[in-house]
Amino acid sequence: MTLQNQRSEALYKEALEHIVGGVNSPSRSFKAVGGGAPVFMKRGQGAYFWDEDGNRYIDYLAAYGPIILGHAHPHVTAAICRAAENGTLYGTPTELEIEFARMLKEATPSLDKVRFVNSGTEAVMSTIRVARAYTGRNKIIKFSGCYHGHSDLVLVAAGSGPSTLGIPDSAGIPVSIAHEVITVPYNDLGALDEALARWGQDVAAVMVEPIVGNFGMVMPKPGFLEGLCAAARRNGSLVIYDEVITAFRFHYGTVQTFDGLPSGTDLAAIEPDLTALGKIIGGGLPIGAYGGRKDIMAQVAPLGPAYQAGTMAGNPASISAGIACLQVLQEPGTYARLDQLGAALEAGLADAARKHGIALTINRIRGALSTHFCDHPVTNYEEAQQTDGEQFAQFFRLMLEQGICLAPSKYEAWFTTLAHTEEDIAVTIEAAGRAFAAMAQ
Ligand code: PMP
Repeated sequence: MTLQNQRSEALYKEALEHIVGGVNSPSRSFKAVGGGAPVFMKRGQGAYFWDEDGNRYIDYLAAYGPIILGHAHPHVTAAICRAAENGTLYGTPTELEIEFARMLKEATPSLDKVRFVNSGTEAVMSTIRVARAYTGRNKIIKFSGCYHGHSDLVLVAAGSGPSTLGIPDSAGIPVSIAHEVITVPYNDLGALDEALARWGQDVAAVMVEPIVGNFGMVMPKPGFLEGLCAAARRNGSLVIYDEVITAFRFHYGTVQTFDGLPSGTDLAAIEPDLTALGKIIGGGLPIGAYGGRKDIMAQVAPLGPAYQAGTMAGNPASISAGIACLQVLQEPGTYARLDQLGAALEAGLADAARKHGIALTINRIRGALSTHFCDHPVTNYEEAQQTDGEQFAQFFRLMLEQGICLAPSKYEAWFTTLAHTEEDIAVTIEAAGRAFAAMAQ
């Protein structure tokens, strides 16, 4: 079977003439799955979207995470329309911003004060500036494979050992900036201790995805977040949680308030100083937010000396969409539903892979799961890298041809949404069975 995608092909050719690489975010290209034209989508409704050639797909990409209610949810759409009718931007404060800040704070008590920005990248970038301003130190420690947006400081890969300074992950980032970042393996407290022992007096913050969403879904090992927070505190460094993917994903709140962490996790001991948010909190419109302890956030202008600003920040359309999205998520049973769909998907995929002799590790946390073509657990980036990218690429294409859309990268998660049905999951599992059968030949 091959996909009828003549219009996507033609549009891709045209896009290449005008838009760099034909895409406005590199993750949208099919480079990691063998290249060629990405599918150009035209319309989304509920759990489905339709491409320019009229093909319908069950969507597990969910726009890399924000579309947790499904496409064009009527409550969100109505909120956006209302906001647009009242004018989309004023350049003044609004009451809506207060309402939304209050909602976020109620869900995550560590957010004494918040500031809205326009993307996850901006949120993370701002937390780092604030942490540096507060501590008077320059370096940050991050974990390999965790993605924190495309700002200079976090687009840095590990050096050659656990306790070496970073190297730029992109052209255009000065080595001097990469040297302000130390990258250590996720779930490895020994490596963190080693880095702190060597560079500690310069470390402003330890930044982490408390549950990882960027090399598949990966849980912290028991004691990892407690150990991380304790080590940072002993060192006088701040703890920054990047909850851009995780906030409102697994329950109505953040990882720091999640009862699904490894048993025995002491939530009081894992509270961060600063948190970055994005994705779901914009209900599908551009947004980011960051916040944390009052005395630390007091560094931010106009209160303090750390400058951070935004013409579009807190715009009524994004805030309205975010409020509407969280209102739907607050309804009883939403997260149990996402979990139930995720569990059915996991069980079906695992069965189908076993039946066809395909080695597949599935990591799932409620409605978010990742499929790793390997026969070992995936608990850190190094293990995620060892999985079979070619098999994933083959699987991705076989699924796409059958109307199932995944993210075109072996590192990205699948997301169930409130719009998916049992029937969608069953169709997906059947398609996966056929894909595994073809791959096993
Ligand atoms: N942090 C994390 C954990 C992310 O997954 C992402 C985006 N995938 C970002 C930050 C950056 O967010 P944005 O793309 O909105 O800038």
